[in-house]
Amino acid sequence: MSRLELIDENIRTIPEYVPGRSIEDTAKKYDLDPASIIKLGSNENPLGPSPKAVEAILENAGKVHLYPSADAGELVESLSRYLSLPVSNICAAGPGMDGLLDNLMRLIIQEGDEVILPIPTFSYYEIAARANGASVICVERKEDFSVDIDAIRKAVSSRTKVIFLCSPNNPSGNMVAESDVRMLLESFRGLVFVDEAYVEFAEHSVTNLVMEYDNLVVGRTFSKIFGLAGLRLGYGVMPAWLKKEYMKTATPFNVSLPALKAGVAAITDKQHIEKSIAMVREGRKYLQEQIPFKVYDSTANFVLVDVSPRSASEVCESLLKKGIIVRDCRSFRGAGNSLIRVTVGTQEQNTRVVEAFRSA
Ligand SMILES: *Cc1c(COP(=O)(O)O)cnc(C)c1O
Repeated sequence: MSRLELIDENIRTIPEYVPGRSIEDTAKKYDLDPASIIKLGSNENPLGPSPKAVEAILENAGKVHLYPSADAGELVESLSRYLSLPVSNICAAGPGMDGLLDNLMRLIIQEGDEVILPIPTFSYYEIAARANGASVICVERKEDFSVDIDAIRKAVSSRTKVIFLCSPNNPSGNMVAESDVRMLLESFRGLVFVDEAYVEFAEHSVTNLVMEYDNLVVGRTFSKIFGLAGLRLGYGVMPAWLKKEYMKTATPFNVSLPALKAGVAAITDKQHIEKSIAMVREGRKYLQEQIPFKVYDSTANFVLVDVSPRSASEVCESLLKKGIIVRDCRSFRGAGNSLIRVTVGTQEQNTRVVEAFRSA
């Protein structure tokens, strides 16, 4: 018997998570100066972290010999003010929103359960669900990447525990209509998970619906607008009954002290938030108008480019040689071979990206 059989079949067949390329690997592979590379493949904030968050990390560096608060209470209270929602509906989570997803799946999935994914979408839902024993049912999005609500409703079975909706969707950048979220919440006995990793760049959030429906969970992160991806901090907004259960199985102290303090500081740094939003709104318009391929409308801090009849791998390779990292979307289930996701950068970076696409 191979030792591999110690691992369940459903886990052995999980596709590996494919992260965006790093600056170090790209510099090595293409023999480039790391300082010349621009990284627009992971939807990070090109303005960096909030200076207030950096200050908070430094101030607390000498205290990391102590365990942080077990429930990140100080951060949850800040989030409560930021969202105008009660503390009893908010859970801080590490590592990142990915940690929230993992604990939620651990809590709710039982052997034989199913989850529904409208594809293409963020790939960690599948990993977290399957790692905890669920089967995934993939439902294709429509041609414009809008969610096919009728197809989702048809895919629901007596074993369906969670429907994942990413809004704005990674990698397509479009939102789910609130009316569609409500329809699913009302017609489905399981949980609807709405991933709002990019919602600050959009116009509309559904977090308030948590006070109205007892089966909605909204996932949020500090990795995107707040520029704290390296700290691995996220949070969830959920009904109070679920927070109680969630806290029972969450790893104790999963939000580190630097992450907790930086999160509190970042939320209050209005200047950094507004600057980041303004840069993204202007930059995505520019990219959409100037990239010489089909670019989808986006409400997030990235745009999706369809380079067909060229292939995504060929165009990405051409950009990489020029020191520009973008995301080849072939690793997204159901995304085909011609889609590239480009994070909105600074104006200077965006200009370089457009030039690189023009000569790709
Ligand atoms: C980046 C991203 C996340 C992960 O957030 P972390 O807090 O960094 O784990 C979750 N969902 C989507 C759609 C993302 O793009």
